[in-house]
Amino acid sequence: MDMKDVLDGVWSDVSAHLGEGKVADYIPALAKVDPSKFGMAVMTVDGELFTMGDAEEPFSIQSVSKVFTLTLALGRVGEAIWKRVGREPSGTPFNSIVQLEHEHGIPRNPFINAGAIVVADTLLSGHEPRETLGEILSFMRHIAGDDSLTIDREVARSEQQTGFRNAALANYMFSFSNIHNPVEKTLGVYFHQCALALNCVQLATAGLFLANRGRLVSGHTVVSSERARRINALMLTCGHYDASGDFAFRVGLPGKSGVGGGILAIAPGKAAMAVWSPGLNANGNSATGTRALESFARRTGWSIFG
Ligand code: GLN
Repeated sequence: MDMKDVLDGVWSDVSAHLGEGKVADYIPALAKVDPSKFGMAVMTVDGELFTMGDAEEPFSIQSVSKVFTLTLALGRVGEAIWKRVGREPSGTPFNSIVQLEHEHGIPRNPFINAGAIVVADTLLSGHEPRETLGEILSFMRHIAGDDSLTIDREVARSEQQTGFRNAALANYMFSFSNIHNPVEKTLGVYFHQCALALNCVQLATAGLFLANRGRLVSGHTVVSSERARRINALMLTCGHYDASGDFAFRVGLPGKSGVGGGILAIAPGKAAMAVWSPGLNANGNSATGTRALESFARRTGWSIFG
């Protein structure tokens, strides 16, 4: 298979759809992003890199960060995390609060906002927010193999000023004793992890361990192959919120989206793919990014479903 031909084919499928969807304007700093941007990067387990479009322009990875903080939290507290967060799809939007009352402050999974706020809280315990963010940033730099990677403070501040729903989720879970640190500090960590700025090349590189049985291209182990498999299972079932079933149906690969318009998708044993297109569909997932991955999966024949 010639990957360059595959990407040319993807381009012919998406080029008429650039700018579709709506940028996430509930975070003012994200509303300024040009909706016609499009980038894609494929990093194979052999270390080969293929790119297209704006693959080297950094964007706000937002909820894609939840994959990486979950990885860190599993390393920190192990299976104990599952006492505080579930692993079932929610069937509700990413910022929903409705299930939390019935389920006593235990979020359905680590990829909806409530679940990711609990994960951030586990990383914060025993530390100051600055230290936890330092840990997250050095982990991202390590797995992306790029020390220049940063957090966009303007995006973090913008979300801090407007994050009323996330504040509601965190306060509500605090009342069930499922947030252990001061709510403002936990939210501070969460908003800053969401504001990590990566380009498609860095994101595909950072996600490669999930395609490569827990190892970086260098062979360095990040997690066990069993843990990588389980994170992939969660991405497949929960990575696109109430559109996770639709993403599995159309693309057939584990994936995690963010409201910055990025998606990380994993073809186990083959490659990690990052796409970026800021226009979102009604579920808050990149409209053209999903279309690109659908085309890519069809052209490569890569699917976990055979
Ligand atoms: N920072 C965003 C929020 O909490 C992340 C949501 C997302 O990317 N789906 O609303």
